[in-house]
Amino acid sequence: MSDAAINTSHWQAIDRAHHLHPFSDTKALAQEGCRVITRADDIYIWDSDGNRLLDGMAGLWCVNIGYGRKELADAAHRQLLELPYYNNFFKTSAPSAIELAGLLAQVTAPHLNHVFFTNSGSEANDTMFRLVRRYWDLAGKPDKEVFISREHAYHGSTIAAASLGGMKPMHEQGHLPIPGIRHIAPPYWYRDGGDMSPEEFGTACARRLEEEINALGADRVAAFIGEPIQSAGGLIVPPETYWPEIQRICSEHDVLLVVDEVICGFGRLGTWFGSDYYNLQPDLMPIAKGLSSGYLPIGGVMVADRVADLFIAEGEQFAHGFTYSGHPAACAVAIANIGIMRDENIVENVRDNTGPYLEQRWNELAQHPLVGETRGVGFLRGLELVKNKREREFFDPVGSAGQICRDICFDNGLVMRAIRDTMAISPPLTMTREQVDELIELVCNCLDLTAKAL
Ligand SMILES: *Cc1c(COP(=O)(O)O)cnc(C)c1O
Repeated sequence: MSDAAINTSHWQAIDRAHHLHPFSDTKALAQEGCRVITRADDIYIWDSDGNRLLDGMAGLWCVNIGYGRKELADAAHRQLLELPYYNNFFKTSAPSAIELAGLLAQVTAPHLNHVFFTNSGSEANDTMFRLVRRYWDLAGKPDKEVFISREHAYHGSTIAAASLGGMKPMHEQGHLPIPGIRHIAPPYWYRDGGDMSPEEFGTACARRLEEEINALGADRVAAFIGEPIQSAGGLIVPPETYWPEIQRICSEHDVLLVVDEVICGFGRLGTWFGSDYYNLQPDLMPIAKGLSSGYLPIGGVMVADRVADLFIAEGEQFAHGFTYSGHPAACAVAIANIGIMRDENIVENVRDNTGPYLEQRWNELAQHPLVGETRGVGFLRGLELVKNKREREFFDPVGSAGQICRDICFDNGLVMRAIRDTMAISPPLTMTREQVDELIELVCNCLDLTAKAL
């Protein structure tokens, strides 16, 4: 055996014996062994056998500026030597958290001027959940406590975040959702639109929020939460009519709007935030992933003036926080990350150059016999595999084709994610036009191989 093969089987054996994995089929993992990723550069990753893969998912939707940026490693190194840890509890603070808070107020909308730091998107959503309920307490309307979310939504894996999410398999584990959360249907036109035009369907889906609010009574509804584009839920791109109607309904019924920007934030749609793309005014905005491009764990909740001002006016002592809220090294890395995104015009480049090019090339894939629909915005794209294109006939069981395609991709130099039968990409925003061509070639090849395997 080669050295690489010996290393791989050594790691797989320890992994099998001692490591419980998130969202993994334990039986398959035990049989096949895990794939060990050992290094990365630019938009590529390498496994322990030396195979190079184009990482079409930027890790887990997070390595927005690409792998191998020394500036981020240097920022962490410098910070760890100067002040490796201090917290923000009990009226203390540290320079990198302070500076990052100021920077976030600059890159987000003018009415978002405060941030509460967390270590992840899940913690951001659990924090948001408590902030919202506390806000309505302070506003003298404690009965406004129900959250409305959407089926298929993903908002994280902690208790409140998983409950806000709309994934049935997650709810089945752990007696979720917790009380006070309702789910409505998402604007998934390709599956559910029937004979309606996308515009009619978008409005109809948004009106379900109003029906739910009216059924509960607006005096009981705290907030609506949604991702600008439902990413892990299946690349569900709302029709143009959807968000304006949701925004109107939230304003009219005095329901807070929570826009989960954990994936759509930090340039993914060719705008700084998905809210900018859809012209939304969120009251709370959970962020994570692209905030540090995944180099260190950090998340947060952007809080609108309406909410923050009440907390401050009431002299509120919000009884919530994490030991590592605003961790100095994570903040230093996030500052360096945002600095690079600004200096290199990464967001503008996705909007004006590589994004439109990816869109054009991606949409060519719609000609493939397996592809029912291509959809997406900027550097967030999906294609839905179908059994019969003309009849819009889906695979049964749902997800069977997606899994096969996903494994074929991995064996052929491409990371592309399967969500049921939708294949998703969310590549580093630094991907060049030449690399877009390389990606499309890999996708075509893998679709052909999938068609053969099915
Ligand atoms: C990934 C994700 C989360 C959870 O973030 P973690 O850092 O994994 O806890 C929340 N919301 C959305 C939209 C996500 O994609």
